[in-house]
Amino acid sequence: MRVLIGGGSGFVGRELTRLLKNKGHEVTIISRQPGLGKITWGELEAGGLPPCEAAVNLSGENLMNPLRWWNEGYRKDLFSSRVDTTTILAQAIAGSPSPPHAWVLVTGVACYKPSLTAQYTEDSEWTPFDLLSRLVKEWEWAGRLPENIAQNTRQVVIRPGVVLGRDGGAMKQMMTPFWLGLGGTLGSGRQPFPWIHVSDLAGIIAHALEPSPDTPSSAVPQVFNGVAPALNTNYEFTKELGRVLRRPTVFPVPGFVIDALMGSERAIVLTQGQKVEPKRTLESGFQYQYPDLSSALKEIVES
Ligand code: NDP
Repeated sequence: MRVLIGGGSGFVGRELTRLLKNKGHEVTIISRQPGLGKITWGELEAGGLPPCEAAVNLSGENLMNPLRWWNEGYRKDLFSSRVDTTTILAQAIAGSPSPPHAWVLVTGVACYKPSLTAQYTEDSEWTPFDLLSRLVKEWEWAGRLPENIAQNTRQVVIRPGVVLGRDGGAMKQMMTPFWLGLGGTLGSGRQPFPWIHVSDLAGIIAHALEPSPDTPSSAVPQVFNGVAPALNTNYEFTKELGRVLRRPTVFPVPGFVIDALMGSERAIVLTQGQKVEPKRTLESGFQYQYPDLSSALKEIVES
């Protein structure tokens, strides 16, 4: 199978590329930079969709970029890097004389309103309530294919929680303070912490790309929550990481400090959280390699 991956050069994309190549598939990455095995977004817009059986979009300015202040320019980039790339790819699919059989868009669980009690599945209704949920709405809307195309191209949306892996994402920023014994809970620590190991997220994406004769194509994308089945809090995550690293975790960071440093609109990802269940992901038969925090963090720390 030939797979086209927008943002395939990033943290999740590198893991997905490795997995697909190991399975014998061919990967072409869509990037802002030209290079071997890549096409640029400009080339995609000008030349249309290259021949492929499946397409994925993973592009997006990093929400936790430590080098950028939380300001209007950053907020704009968060939106345009996701919504514009998704629009370009969806339009290229719709305009192709031979569209792929699968189109997978990876968004996030920020659409579900943070709560200490509510539990969400892929069937939960939601309406935007803040900046990040508005982003998810626009992003997923940008990916929708016209009905006549969706009859032959299966549309899938995967909503991951915090992606854990050695080579990027949140862990890359957390490892040093935790190694130094400076780690601690964030805010109250009671907030849910939806998470997934990067290998499992790549596995769910690859699973969604496979031809699925039993699943009829539909005008509405099929949603899969990209989270581990274990429901954990920030406190549990902090204590487990400290245990695996054999380091103390006695320095809690108050919520107002995180809000001040990061801007409350994005700090919400750390200071609040959602209990998200991967109901449909499990029902689809996907088998997790790292279903619990202990196995996931052990793999990351020991790799
Ligand atoms: P990365 O931060 O690694 O970025 C992925 C790619 O996006 C980059 O390699 C880059 O490709 C492209 N990109 C970055 N900035 C821009 C920009 N300003 N404009 C256009 N393209 C840009 O992302 P991840 O791999 O961590 O995540 C993949 C997707 O999953 C993202 O959409 C993210 O929002 C979502 N997600 C990630 C989570 C996580 O914890 N990592 C959690 C929930 C959702 P290039 O330089 O080649 O153009």
